Amino acid sequence: MLYFDHNATTFVAPEVAEVMAAASRDVYGNASSVHGAGQLARQHLERSRRTIAEFLNASPRRVCVHQLAERNRTILRFSGWSEICRLKQKHVITTTIEHPAVLETCRQLEREGVDVTYVGVGATGIVDPDEIERHLRPSTVLVSVMHANNEIGAIQPIAELGALVRRRRESGQRIYLHSDGVQAMGKIDVDVEQLGVDLYSSSAHKIFGPKGIGGLFVRKGTPVHAIQFGGRHERERRPGTENVPGSHGIRASSRNYARPTPSLLARPARITLKAEILQRTPERREKRRANIHRLPNTSNLLFHGVSGEAMVISLDLRGIATSTGSACSSGSIEPSPVLLAIGRTREEARSSVRFSFGRYNTLEDVNTLIEAVIASTHQLRKSVRQEHRLVEV
Ligand code: PLP
Repeated sequence: MLYFDHNATTFVAPEVAEVMAAASRDVYGNASSVHGAGQLARQHLERSRRTIAEFLNASPRRVCVHQLAERNRTILRFSGWSEICRLKQKHVITTTIEHPAVLETCRQLEREGVDVTYVGVGATGIVDPDEIERHLRPSTVLVSVMHANNEIGAIQPIAELGALVRRRRESGQRIYLHSDGVQAMGKIDVDVEQLGVDLYSSSAHKIFGPKGIGGLFVRKGTPVHAIQFGGRHERERRPGTENVPGSHGIRASSRNYARPTPSLLARPARITLKAEILQRTPERREKRRANIHRLPNTSNLLFHGVSGEAMVISLDLRGIATSTGSACSSGSIEPSPVLLAIGRTREEARSSVRFSFGRYNTLEDVNTLIEAVIASTHQLRKSVRQEHRLVEV
């Protein structure tokens, strides 16, 4: 199987699996226990925390080792919610292209009486900081904007938003910036100081580490209150016996994979893919868009007149893993909300395929992919006589 779905997840790198297996075997104590086995576990956990902090350019004290699934949900609830309850403030700003982990939590906050503004991003997929500023209110407690989008790879101007939020805070407003950095790590440089974020979430399974565990940066002074109770772990933010082998997994994957991959940056496979398809099929390039600041590994192509699902299945039958942003809901294929948010029609959104490359994809793999995409395009087009257009979104 050739794997081009690294934005969905990555495999656990062999050396990461090895350190995790060794830690599961040898470091079995409860990190809260006072005996030697517990203290050994504590030391290992803290060492992992230091490594995660190093890659975020943060102090270890500011890093929380978190269960991945709770991370974004928790942040929105704990920062926004605690302030809201305390100060009776009721406004959160986010964008229309966030991951469901953020969007659905915002919808739940709305049901609980919080005002949420979903700022649009336009055709580029990039939010305009001025637009965020226009929506700020004295009651805004949280701005949550992802660092990089999982479907189209658009990189958001987080540093500008960081400066904006900081200015507001300096003028007395209790307001914080969260960024979902899950797709950024390993693909672009991440430095929480340069970004000026107050909360930043990252995950191990996108950088060849284990699933179910991630790192959360919390800037000093940012109000963080648990939404789960029954333990004093992780400075009372996340109760539950710490997952020391998992933390070893993040440590090893951060050390080896948290920095951007030079080979992907040197000649992004996505450019080769698009150029070859345009050259070797009757596809016609749509009017060129402004050059978008995007992840080097992510290519989302719309094949007009072809179902994205059919393309993904056809490629799968050829031994190639890719994905669509569409989700199956109640038996029908729902188009990707991200593509709709950037102005694509439902039909166009259903024609998209996401290719997300990883550091172990070779040039040979990319060439095999190109041949397969071209063959699938011809095969799927035989039944539909449509105008041929290829669009990178
Ligand atoms: N945020 C983004 C942008 C993602 O791409 C993903 C995973 O695909 C997540 C968050 C992770 O969500 P979860 O906490 O459900 O693993």
